[in-house]
Amino acid sequence: MMIDSHCHLDFPQFNSDCHETIERALSAGVVEAINSGVDYKTNLSTLALADKYDHIHATLGLGPGVAVSKSEEEISRILSRIEQNIEKAVGVGEAGLDYFHCKTDSGRARQANVFKKVIEIAETVDKPLVIHGRDAEYESLELVRHLDNVVFHCYSGSLETMNLITDAGYYISIATLVCFSKHHQNLVKHLPIKRMIIETDSPYLSPRKGRNEPAFLADSVATIAKLRGMEEMEVAKVTAQNTRRVFGL
Ligand SMILES: [Zn+2]
Repeated sequence: MMIDSHCHLDFPQFNSDCHETIERALSAGVVEAINSGVDYKTNLSTLALADKYDHIHATLGLGPGVAVSKSEEEISRILSRIEQNIEKAVGVGEAGLDYFHCKTDSGRARQANVFKKVIEIAETVDKPLVIHGRDAEYESLELVRHLDNVVFHCYSGSLETMNLITDAGYYISIATLVCFSKHHQNLVKHLPIKRMIIETDSPYLSPRKGRNEPAFLADSVATIAKLRGMEEMEVAKVTAQNTRRVFGL
């Protein structure tokens, strides 16, 4: 019984077989999933998916890529839509900073401005915040320290910052990257189990060839069990409990 804490089943990669993908996930033991919006359109399709399937939950966000590519007007429109619909969601995000894709000071400042507005929503509605903090994990942490519930989705930063995040009582979401990345395997060895949740980030980061899907979360569970010297059942159980705790499922 696993929970995929982060995926995008409403993305075009699943246009032809979204329902079958969800069925395969259930057969593989992925009993719940959290689908995250990143912009106006995907916030709506995420809500539609959560409405259709009881075991799929929505978070509504505004990704850092969107923060730099859209106009002020469009950003405001996304933010007010998030506010209007947030009671139907289990969390806010994904949102954050992406220094990997954005190298300019002006772009990064813009990301921070938009991120602060999303943080304010999470604070106001008192829901967990899902952070996308690629190459900007520490910078993201410094902006959210006043929040109670925070998840660092697809955490790929340093061991030092990971320790600061878990010391703050926040959660680290380990993506299926752990199946093939030595860096993520090392993170998993040092991550307090109470702070670990797991995700596929489908359709990205497949541990197999091609498109990723929630059913492949089983590969992560097997890998993590080996790294930690735990039973697979135990890894699935504890990470599912952690996900339920942080998102209030
Ligand atoms: Zn994502």
